[in-house]
Amino acid sequence: MPTWPPRWTDITDPDVLAAIERVPRHRFVPKHLQPYAYDDRPLPIGSGQTISQPYVVALMTQALQLTPESKVLEIGTGSGYQTAILAELAKEVYTVEVRPELQERAKRILEELGYTNIHFRVGDGWEGWPEEAPFDAIIVTAAAPVWPQALINQLAEGGRMVIPVGKEDWNQILWLVTKVDGNLIKESLGPVRFVPLIKPAEIQDGKDGS
Ligand code: SAH
Repeated sequence: MPTWPPRWTDITDPDVLAAIERVPRHRFVPKHLQPYAYDDRPLPIGSGQTISQPYVVALMTQALQLTPESKVLEIGTGSGYQTAILAELAKEVYTVEVRPELQERAKRILEELGYTNIHFRVGDGWEGWPEEAPFDAIIVTAAAPVWPQALINQLAEGGRMVIPVGKEDWNQILWLVTKVDGNLIKESLGPVRFVPLIKPAEIQDGKDGS
C-alpha cells in the first residue's frame, strides 16, 4: 500500500492533508479498481467520467482556503470523493451533478459515510445554485470551455473559485479566482486535464462519450 497521503511538496495545509487521510477513497471507485484507489491518479467511474487524481483534489482544495464556517458550491459531483473532502473542511457543501446516475451513487456513499452537511442537486452546473448564493468558495471539477458568468456572480465578496478553463483537453488551465472589491483576480495554478463541463442537452445527443 502506498504512503497515504502521498508526500506532495506543494501541499502543505495540514487540514487538507488530514482530510485526505481520513476519507476512504476506495469507497468512491468501482470495485474492480479498488486496488488502485490509493495510487495518485484519476480512475474511470462510469458514464465516461473520472474520479480526479488525489493530487489535483488536494491542490484545488488547498487553494480554496476553507474554514469551518465556509459555504461551498461544487459543480460536478462525479464520484463524490471531492465532495467528501470539502464536507470535512467546510460548514455546508452544495453539490450539482448533471448525470443523475452519478449523483445517486455519490449520494448513497456519502450518506453511508455519515456526512450531514452536503446538499445535492441534479441539474446544470452552468447555472450554479442561485437560491443559496453567495458562496465563500466555488469549485468546478469539469473543464469549462468559456467562463461561466453565473458562477462568477454567485461568488461572495472575498470568495475564492477554482476552475479549469479550456476548450480542448490539451489546453486547459486551472485558475484560482478571487473576488476583491467586486473585481476578479485570476491566478494560474498550471495546466490540467479534466472531462468537459457540458450542457445538459449534450447528454441526450449522445455526444458526451458515455
Ligand atoms: N470531482 C469529481 C469529478 C468528476 S468528473 C470526482 O473526483 O469524482 C466531472 C463531473 O462533472 C462528471 O461527473 C460530470 O458528469 C459532471 N458535469 C459535467 N458537466 C456538468 C454540468 N453542466 N453540471 C454539473 N455537472 C457536470
